[in-house]
Amino acid sequence: MRSIPECINRYELDMPTLLWTRGPNFPLSRLAERMMCTRCGSRQVSILFDVPRPSDAIRIA
Ligand SMILES: [Zn+2]
Repeated sequence: MRSIPECINRYELDMPTLLWTRGPNFPLSRLAERMMCTRCGSRQVSILFDVPRPSDAIRIA
């Protein structure tokens, strides 16, 4: 069996589109299992979340 190395490519996912297609309750932790890299065909993809800083999200005058 041919082993596919872990993908080293990086993409920026469109989070709003993912939420619209999967629904807001779709567990993001399961997203990686369902994804496949379009360049190398690897399913060993990992998802990095860009979490906004709390100071940006909560702004109290
Ligand atoms: Zn890849």
